[in-house]
Amino acid sequence: MSFSQQLNYDEATTEKLSGNFQDIIAGVGEDATREGLLKTPERAAKAMQFLTQGYDQDAEAILKSAMFAEDYSEMVIVKDIELYSLCEHHLLPFFGKVHVAYIPDGYIVGLSKIPRVIDVFARRFQVQERLTDEVLQAIQKTLNPLGVAVVIEARHMCMMMRGVQKQTSVTTTSAFTGAFKAERTRNEFLKLITN
Ligand SMILES: [Zn+2]
Repeated sequence: MSFSQQLNYDEATTEKLSGNFQDIIAGVGEDATREGLLKTPERAAKAMQFLTQGYDQDAEAILKSAMFAEDYSEMVIVKDIELYSLCEHHLLPFFGKVHVAYIPDGYIVGLSKIPRVIDVFARRFQVQERLTDEVLQAIQKTLNPLGVAVVIEARHMCMMMRGVQKQTSVTTTSAFTGAFKAERTRNEFLKLITN
């Protein structure tokens, strides 16, 4: 399946979600029949399906589709990967950057697959901690490298727009396997992503 730009919207799902969004619009006291809002339920229904398309995607299959045998055994880093997800507590966006590294052990992966793996897990209802771990585990299980490192820095709309209204705070999560559990390797990675 190739998504990201196009998505085949399931008609029954679109219809059901449209009804739900219509209820939300009326529920907050708006007039769901006024012109500007007439097509909003359907648009919102499609947007929601787009933002949750990760449930139908398989991260390990994506990685396996571009795995190559290679002797290279130095750290491979992909940093500043854009992230957009929805927090599962408020269904509001959180967004930021992901940095991923791995140390190959016989196999490398096409670099464009790593952002795609992030999208598979980000396009679901998420918490940042679990997202960090799911990206890590998918790479570890598929490539079986000497180690994987994942750092996510994100801002949460549920904190910025409501609740504590802390507009500038950034939440950082990290997870490491194998060689990255050693302080020296982990520090080398952290230094490279902060430069
Ligand atoms: Zn939240």
